[in-house]
Amino acid sequence: MSSPSTMKINGREIEFHKGKTILEVCRENDITVPTLCHDDRLKPYGGCRLCIVEIQGVPRPLASCTTPAEAGMEVTTETPRLTRLRKTVLELLLSNHPNDCMCCEAAGNCGLQTLAYQYGARLDKYPGEQWQLPIRQDNPFITYEPNKCIVCGRCTRICNEVVMAGTISITNRGFEVMPDTAFGKPRSLLNCEFCGQCVSACPTGALTDRKGRGLGRSADVKKVKTTCTYCGTGCNFFLNVKDDRVIRVTSDLSAPVNKGNLCIKGRYGYDFIHHEDRITTPLIKDGDGFREASWDEALELVASKFNSLIAEHGPEKVGGFSSSRCTNEENYLLAKWVRCAVGSNNVDNCARV
Ligand code: SF4
Ligand code: SF4
Ligand code: SF4
Repeated sequence: MSSPSTMKINGREIEFHKGKTILEVCRENDITVPTLCHDDRLKPYGGCRLCIVEIQGVPRPLASCTTPAEAGMEVTTETPRLTRLRKTVLELLLSNHPNDCMCCEAAGNCGLQTLAYQYGARLDKYPGEQWQLPIRQDNPFITYEPNKCIVCGRCTRICNEVVMAGTISITNRGFEVMPDTAFGKPRSLLNCEFCGQCVSACPTGALTDRKGRGLGRSADVKKVKTTCTYCGTGCNFFLNVKDDRVIRVTSDLSAPVNKGNLCIKGRYGYDFIHHEDRITTPLIKDGDGFREASWDEALELVASKFNSLIAEHGPEKVGGFSSSRCTNEENYLLAKWVRCAVGSNNVDNCARV
């Protein structure tokens, strides 16, 4: 890697590597810059203009998300002019936004609400025409409330840049601009993968998870970080738990494996956790059916069957196949058990084929 360059941000001398934007350098150095259209998973967009900063020698503020950091730059992220401009941008966004925070799914976890509060933006500063569009429930997993959309393009960009499904894009022109499918068809009729990536990228309550609607907002849940059990990729996410029940899965943008991205199984396939048919005790075959047993009884039965098989046919007739759905530690234990307890080297894993 080339040697770092230096620039000044808010009077602080900062080292950075060539190729970074000003916003990236700020965030790497814990300098807060507000954004609504930015998502670390996406290419810089420069749409919301909230990340504007002042650069010495440049007459107008520039969007820090699309401006490359350069050696010797002197950047200021907070000035009275920037505050005034950001407040105006927010008030323009609020000019056709519904006053719905009291019962909105996103309240408490909404970028627009947070920044409007921070900058003292008023809903009624620029009274104008309001969208009165119906709530769309034409997808089994996603609720779309177009009236709450600020047209940041995060949903369409993640669908195109990351998922590469191309299900939605920015449609129409002027006041009618909004993210939508081709000809407004239900997503479920197109090539939507139901991955919910668009929901995870939305900074407002315009896109929300349908299954968790009305069950609890962000302040009501305990977020438990965990690893998905569906495949060997090992994506991380947060289980949102309320009253000992999982009501939603949300992205962990800091996860090293998946960076907040998930597929349909990880994001929406959590019903099994509380399903009434879930097996919660060991079952031992009994005639044509099964009977419930204790763990001690079940493990003793399995051990005795293995012992008699090994005594009759030899250890090389026994092998172990482990699963990528298990943790590394569980896979290691299975290999150790086959090699040390059984005395065989017949060990394999489903991920190898
Ligand atoms: S999307 Fe955000 S600002 Fe809009 S109503 Fe919901 S919580 Fe309030
Ligand atoms: S659920 Fe996934 S595939 Fe469907 S529109 Fe959203 S991002 Fe695109
Ligand atoms: S639906 Fe959400 S993510 Fe998509 S453009 Fe509107 S506010 Fe942005």
